[in-house]
Amino acid sequence: MIATERSCILLIEDEPAIADTVVYALQTEGFEPLWRMTGQEGLLAFREHGPALIILDIGLPDASGFDLCRELRRIRPAPVIFLTARASEIDRVVGLEIGADDYVVKPFSPRELTARVKAVLRRTLGSQADHPSRETAVSAQALFEINEESCEIRYDGQVLILSRYEYRLLQVLLKRPGRIFSREMLLQQVWDHPDHSLDRTVDTHIKTLRAKLRAIRPDDNPIKTHRGFGYSLSLES
Ligand code: CA
Repeated sequence: MIATERSCILLIEDEPAIADTVVYALQTEGFEPLWRMTGQEGLLAFREHGPALIILDIGLPDASGFDLCRELRRIRPAPVIFLTARASEIDRVVGLEIGADDYVVKPFSPRELTARVKAVLRRTLGSQADHPSRETAVSAQALFEINEESCEIRYDGQVLILSRYEYRLLQVLLKRPGRIFSREMLLQQVWDHPDHSLDRTVDTHIKTLRAKLRAIRPDDNPIKTHRGFGYSLSLES
């Protein structure tokens, strides 16, 4: 969608070195970045400029990114991508009470971040433009039933016999239908020793998971591959 070009992106980040690279990368991609160093300044800029998306550092000098996100959302709903420095923060972001649209772990490549920005904008603009996609999302997701206490997932009424990692993978994907997870993100969230695991490990488990889903509904493939990005649970039924 062409509307993503020339979009104002508000970056709230107190480290100039990081901000510089992000601003440069966004400009290169045709966005109009706006950089603020503190939560207060960020809030002001948010009110003034009405950015299309916010990139928000969790550790700011005057506020926590989580609290700031809540405040911003109270003013106006806008997509947020968190920048996080610590693995311990990821759980809260992924916990999603805050409703982040995505997150990037430092250090990250500016390219990775701009790719996420584009994906989030495409998703949010898309979901605003055509509401039917929301309804089909519900119906695709409704095929899954998850019982976290017994670690059991039913698909179209049938219990899936899953390995531990298959279960966790599907659990993560199910929590955010439509959201694209990179292999790196899935490794971090699903595997016990992500540093010793390979991206290929994710692919292998996705493959076996798909086969198990196909055994129940042969014509559906709810797990989509996004080349160069990763995987998502499909929004289309
Ligand atoms: Ca910081």
